[in-house]
Order: sequence, then structure tokens, then C-alpha cells
Amino acid sequence: MAEETIFTKIMNGDIPADIVYEDDDCICINDISPKAPTHVLVIPRKPIPRLADATTEDKALLGQLMLKVGDIARQLGVDEAFRVVINNGEAAGQTVFHLHIHILANKTFSESSLGMS
Ligand code: 5GP
Repeated sequence: MAEETIFTKIMNGDIPADIVYEDDDCICINDISPKAPTHVLVIPRKPIPRLADATTEDKALLGQLMLKVGDIARQLGVDEAFRVVINNGEAAGQTVFHLHIHILANKTFSESSLGMS
């Protein structure tokens, strides 16, 4: 079995985190190293390593996560302007191999940059 990621440890309560939202399908935490004044991670409880590893079995879950992103953005009061990032693979900047969606807000994003900075 694959080794538990830091996010599974957080979900199991083995490592503390600042939890913004949680339900049966996902958890949302503040990023420990924020790249914007608002920077949270929406993480499915199911440990899918990368977006590219999701299958048709995960179709409903992926849809739920996207709806949850909107809900959480509203909850945080940033739904007028936020950026969503999913890094897939090491070369794309993924460091934790448990699918997660970054929500970044409350900063001006450069039009030409699609990254987190
Ligand atoms: P990735 O680079 O894989 O797309 O994003 C991983 C994110 O997880 C990074 O932004 C990093 O700051 C965050 N992160 C890594 N370890 C922890 C942790 O222990 N707690 C929290 N809250 N965030 C973490």
C-alpha cells in the first residue's frame, strides 16, 4: 500500500492543521506556506495521488469538489475573485501526492501568469 501522505495524516488527526471546512468527502485547510493572503487547500478524503490518476469512478467526487470550491470561496468571502490551481506531477510543482485544489485570493494576480505567484 502507498505510504500515507501528510494530508491523510491531517485528516486522521495525526498532524494538526487549521481546518476551514470538512465533510464526508473532503477537508479544506489553510496552506502552511501561503502564496496569497487567502490560500486554502481542498482535499478529497480519497487519496487519489494526482488529477491524472482519477478515473470515471471519481466523476461525481470531482464534480463535488468543484462545487465545494465555490462554497468555500463564498464562506471565505472571496467568491468575486479567486484563482484555482491543481499541480499535477513533480515537474508541474506538485509536492504532496494526494490530489488537492489550491484556492488563492486577496491578491492581484498577473494576467500573464497562470501560476500561484
Ligand atoms: P503542491 O505543491 O503539491 O501543489 O501543494 C502542496 C501544498 O501543501 C503546498 O502549498 C504546501 O505549502 C502545503 N503543505 C505541505 N505540508 C503541509 C502541512 O503540513 N500543512 C498544511 N496546512 N499545508 C501543507
